[in-house]
Amino acid sequence: MSKKKLIDDTINYLKYYREYNNYQVYAHEIVEVSEDPVFAVNEEVRVTETEVIEKKEYITPEVRIPKEVKIIAETEFMNNEWKISTTLDQFEDQIINCIKCRALAGTRKQVVFGSGNPDADVVVVGEAPGADEDIRGEPFVGRAGMLLTDILKAINFTREEIYICNILKCRPPDNRNPLPDEIVNCEPYLFKQLEMIKPKLILAVGTFAAQTLLKSKEPLGKLRGKFHSYNGIKMMVTYHPAALLRNPNWKRPTWEDVQLFRKEYDFLVKS
Ligand code: SF4
Repeated sequence: MSKKKLIDDTINYLKYYREYNNYQVYAHEIVEVSEDPVFAVNEEVRVTETEVIEKKEYITPEVRIPKEVKIIAETEFMNNEWKISTTLDQFEDQIINCIKCRALAGTRKQVVFGSGNPDADVVVVGEAPGADEDIRGEPFVGRAGMLLTDILKAINFTREEIYICNILKCRPPDNRNPLPDEIVNCEPYLFKQLEMIKPKLILAVGTFAAQTLLKSKEPLGKLRGKFHSYNGIKMMVTYHPAALLRNPNWKRPTWEDVQLFRKEYDFLVKS
């Protein structure tokens, strides 16, 4: 690749983020990482941009992002500052502009970090934000979210006393399943959330969340109805509220699961 081409691609890349995202690009230092001997010298391309651009509706970007730039963009986000956050708010601020998954960062409206009680005994974990969540910036809103609220209410939990989040913090386009790389990128954020909240119990909803957290290929029907362990925290898995809207036959097993979940919660808080 010629030097001019590399610089052009870098500029296109920055334009791409300016046009399709809400990033503030401040005095980036872009260091070439090409192994091509022509560029293996200590040359740097410095680009300064201080303009804050309003986010626009997503349009499929046509810009090809060169491999060299991708590496720089990702390492920029691996500053590990989020790892030393001491509050969830601080942690959220650290990852609000995360671009580790380029496709998701280019299509989401916002990062959906999680919501609820930072000292919750119970954390509900879903798969990823959907369209409503992406717009509102909150997990489990819309019809499925309302059903989750009702399910929780039926076992005497309010949304305010628990914490709700997803494995992936950004909406996959067209609600496709998260890709393995995206899970690898984002799951550490969930670990950190759980490390900070220290819940007594986790309720994972939906096949994808259950299989991802348990690193299992078993169908949900086989994983539900019993407790598992996730990073040392007791976890139950059950059907996703959106699945219950499609198939009411799953309401009964879900009801059995959440009753068991409540019983375990009562036992743990009293013991
Ligand atoms: S899904 Fe997670 S890791 Fe990927 S860009 Fe969003 S916040 Fe970052």
